Amino acid sequence: MPLDHNWTHQGEFLQAAQRFDREDVLAPFRERFHIPPHGEGQSLYFTGNSLGLQPKGARDIIEGELEDWRRYGVEAHFEGRRPWVAYHREATADLAAVVGAQADEVVAMNALTVNLHLLLISFYRPQGKRTKLMIEAGAFPSDRYAALSQLRLHGLDPETHLIEISPREGEHTLRTEDITARIAQEGDTLACVMLCGVQYYTGQWMPMREITEAAHAAGATCGFDLAHAAGNVPLQLHDWNVDFACWCGYKYLNGGPGCTAGAFVHERHANKPEMPRLEGWWGHSEARRFKMEPDFDLMSGAEGWQTSNAPVMNMAAMLASLAEFRAAGMDRMRAKSLALTAFLEQGIHAVAKSTGAPLEILTPSDPSARGCQLSVVAHGHGKSLFDCLTKHGVIVDWREPAVIRMAPVPLYNSFADVAEFLTILHHGLHQDA
Ligand SMILES: *Cc1c(COP(=O)(O)O)cnc(C)c1O
Repeated sequence: MPLDHNWTHQGEFLQAAQRFDREDVLAPFRERFHIPPHGEGQSLYFTGNSLGLQPKGARDIIEGELEDWRRYGVEAHFEGRRPWVAYHREATADLAAVVGAQADEVVAMNALTVNLHLLLISFYRPQGKRTKLMIEAGAFPSDRYAALSQLRLHGLDPETHLIEISPREGEHTLRTEDITARIAQEGDTLACVMLCGVQYYTGQWMPMREITEAAHAAGATCGFDLAHAAGNVPLQLHDWNVDFACWCGYKYLNGGPGCTAGAFVHERHANKPEMPRLEGWWGHSEARRFKMEPDFDLMSGAEGWQTSNAPVMNMAAMLASLAEFRAAGMDRMRAKSLALTAFLEQGIHAVAKSTGAPLEILTPSDPSARGCQLSVVAHGHGKSLFDCLTKHGVIVDWREPAVIRMAPVPLYNSFADVAEFLTILHHGLHQDA
């Protein structure tokens, strides 16, 4: 149905939203999350890309762990309903499904930036003339700090050894051919390519398979930060041959603030004790861990990168969310996500047409080059527009100058959420004109 006309046909958007919601097979999942209230009703929550909402199942799981601790003390490591000694494995199968990996390629551990460091220690190994590390320009600050400090750990000057790949002049996102050409051009000076999966600012989903191929053809390793990709877009890390990846659990994975992150290491790197890494007792042979032996005996697979025992409380809420992911399935979530974001995109164009406001979408219009997020610039508008949205219960991320980043999440956002947002945006742009 064509919806790309003027916003004066607002009623059509609202009706279409109602129909899409009626037909939405994932609609019942909204009830399984706590939507933050606004006044008498609910807020329009579009920041699942920053902090996912609380799954209603989280409380039971957390209370269960508290009860096991109360009941068993240290024995809960073996006696608990989800024995703590291997607690990280409660998440493994679901995380593997989310990122397209085999179970032994995935582990839940630590926090995102920590995992990025642990993996770079192993996969960024500058040697001879092969010294460079490639990231994207405008990377999330933590990733850039991690990259810079890794270079310094090797005594390398970031000026010459860090490559930050930028979009073309006047463009916001990277072209596949430009990324692969740059990788080929750096050739045997390139040690590691470490890009984001989905760019946090623009929402661009990187051509991960092509990048991995190009990096490998150049003789470099290839890894991704999937903070904005895990649980958002369908991934096939194993089949794409990605060397390593990491992600946080609190954005699309709804694991709660600061919750345990994830890591992926391709199976071809399993069982390589000679590979440099930072070691700890949780990466040591599980069967012999409690023999307290002095020498390290590496565990197979991604679990070999663990250093510490699992942070149970930090992982508990994520298990509730992963159960919803399992029930919904990435295929169905992606199908809804494509429709939901396309609906938002059409609506933004319609509102722009009707108000004359120059709304520019930074995110690629090609659905295969984005997840659910759209990043919109409201040129000429300022904080007052954001304040108006906030006043009406819209929760989006606002960055100067007038960039609205918003993520309609298929698990708990509805088409009606989007239509209501568009009405408020239309109103706000009028007021702010
Ligand atoms: C959210 C995010 C982080 C946050 O790192 P933490 O270690 O979880 O605090 C890092 N990198 C990217 C790309 C992110 O989107």
